[in-house]
Amino acid sequence: MNIEDKIKLLDEYDDAYYNKQSIIDDAGYDLLKDFVYRHLPPDHPRLTKVGHSECELWPKKKHTIAMGSQNKVSTEEAIKNWVENVSFVLGVAHPEFVLQHKIDGFSLEMCYSQGRLESGLTRGDGQIGADIYENVMLFRQLPKILPIKNDVICRGEGVLYKKDYEHIQEESDGHYKNARNAASGISRRLDGTHSKYIRVIAYDVNAKVSKETEKIAILKKLGFVTVETFICNSIEEILAIYKSIRDKQRGKLPYDIDGLVLKLNDINLQEKLGVKKNKPEGQVALKFDSEKVITTVKGFRIQIGRTGKFTPVALLEDVELMGSTIKKASVHNFSLMTEIGIGIGAEVVIEKKGDIIPQVTEVITEGDPFEKPTKCPSCGGPLVDDGVNIWCRNEVCRERDVNRIVYWIQTLDMKGFSEKFVERLWDLGKVRRISDLYLLTADDFIAVEGIGEKTVITFFETMRGTSELYLQKFITALGIPTCSKSTAEILVERFGSWDSIGALVPSDLEKISGFGETSARSVCAGIAEVKSMAEDLLKVIYIKEKKQGIFTGLSFCVTGSLSSMGRKEFQTIVVDNGGIAKDTVSEGLTYLVSNDKDTGSKKNEKARKFGVKVINEDEFIVLIGGLKKKEVIVEVKKEVLTIVSEELF
Ligand SMILES: [Zn+2]
Repeated sequence: MNIEDKIKLLDEYDDAYYNKQSIIDDAGYDLLKDFVYRHLPPDHPRLTKVGHSECELWPKKKHTIAMGSQNKVSTEEAIKNWVENVSFVLGVAHPEFVLQHKIDGFSLEMCYSQGRLESGLTRGDGQIGADIYENVMLFRQLPKILPIKNDVICRGEGVLYKKDYEHIQEESDGHYKNARNAASGISRRLDGTHSKYIRVIAYDVNAKVSKETEKIAILKKLGFVTVETFICNSIEEILAIYKSIRDKQRGKLPYDIDGLVLKLNDINLQEKLGVKKNKPEGQVALKFDSEKVITTVKGFRIQIGRTGKFTPVALLEDVELMGSTIKKASVHNFSLMTEIGIGIGAEVVIEKKGDIIPQVTEVITEGDPFEKPTKCPSCGGPLVDDGVNIWCRNEVCRERDVNRIVYWIQTLDMKGFSEKFVERLWDLGKVRRISDLYLLTADDFIAVEGIGEKTVITFFETMRGTSELYLQKFITALGIPTCSKSTAEILVERFGSWDSIGALVPSDLEKISGFGETSARSVCAGIAEVKSMAEDLLKVIYIKEKKQGIFTGLSFCVTGSLSSMGRKEFQTIVVDNGGIAKDTVSEGLTYLVSNDKDTGSKKNEKARKFGVKVINEDEFIVLIGGLKKKEVIVEVKKEVLTIVSEELF
């Protein structure tokens, strides 16, 4: 594979990341990118490319001013040099600087026309971005209407706070790699799911002012949450703040930062220095240098996931890194292994970035190639090699089977089971597939050492609790590869039964908005993979019928609080009456229940946009009361806006 092929591969990864579902994790991507970039001549066009032209699905729009990137430094020495150089070039002895958090999210340009939010542009390739307006309207801590009737352009960072990220991970079964990846992916989703969790932290505005600090003050007055900003007058102050944030404050912040941005406070001085290669010379990113160590690869172990996919893990000579002993690191997939030339005896750099697990970030010497396995190390079965990944497709494979069963158990929160226990049951031949769990008898447990009577009781209670499931839960717990929780939701809503879902072909999915040819194919392939498992399961468990009732065919969502019931209760009432309870407002929703219809709440805004009927709690109660046939027509009052004019520009 030559360097141009590798660039093509990077483009493919970019395309998947921005337009579909990421097919490589961040660390693997960075590793390949570093490798490619080190081998490119300095004037290669790839080096000036900021990102990929993203999202065919969203309308494209040109940035008013190109969104560039930043020069980066990561040592105290380099920071000092940069400051001294800037002072020297400008001929100013002690220019004033500002230091701002470098938030680990995605860049966003917000345009307001006459004070009303009109578009929200992603960075895109730096020149043209995707207008993700519908989602931006749902973002938190972002004013949709400014207190002035001017045309305003602001820039900021879209970010998921740590607590929101954890919540989303839980809801989406650990779908995302990290908070940045999640924020970026969510912001581009067509269905708006989870957009409400994204917050915007603003740092720039097109106001005619002379200082960065004045921009921040204006943004605050306009109602934005602004980036944390510190004023510094000397290199000593800069370094003191840099070190304090890096070593003490970083972990306590509500969001992730990967460094700080150092800017000349005086905008005229910044302009004097100009922009070179898309990068403004009057500012620099101070990255937090991660700790690195060099070690040797002793060999490789292969991990087999619940889908049968192999992940090579490099076994390392023990090495100390930030207070812990590192013994292994994931190499993501086999094709990457060949590309970066990591083999047995390779000397590699291991890095820990932020709080995440250690990663191989550089291969110094390549080592002897690790022979791709020709049979499954767990079951000895034949393998399928798709060019990027290797898979075990054997009928019976211990590691894969155990992982599948454990996934089911964890998704359904089945008490009394541990991974070790599942392994013992597997080894005894009692459980090979998920369905076997439901055929176990008390006698089967006698064979397992150390199982007490109490555990057996817990176990049977758990089984009873999970032997009747709503279709939604069943589909999620199956763990269909390539099928996220929201995709599962769509499948259930559209097709309503396992019989229909199991028989899907790509052309059925392509008719649904949000599915492309590739995603439709991969979802169908995922379904095919779990089909026999699902069919065995359906011989021992039941899918609960969706209730029929006055709400059949209707969907409901609630915003704000209700006085006579909690949200859970509201949803139960909806489902018990045959309706669909939704968490988000989207096109086709029948009713939004809101006690305060005229607020600018995101759900109210979206309801107006999609023409969804908004009813209040009393009207909802009337509906439950049996007004089955009578159409309840509710008028949505026109939004009344009070615009306070304040001349800021
Ligand atoms: Zn196998």
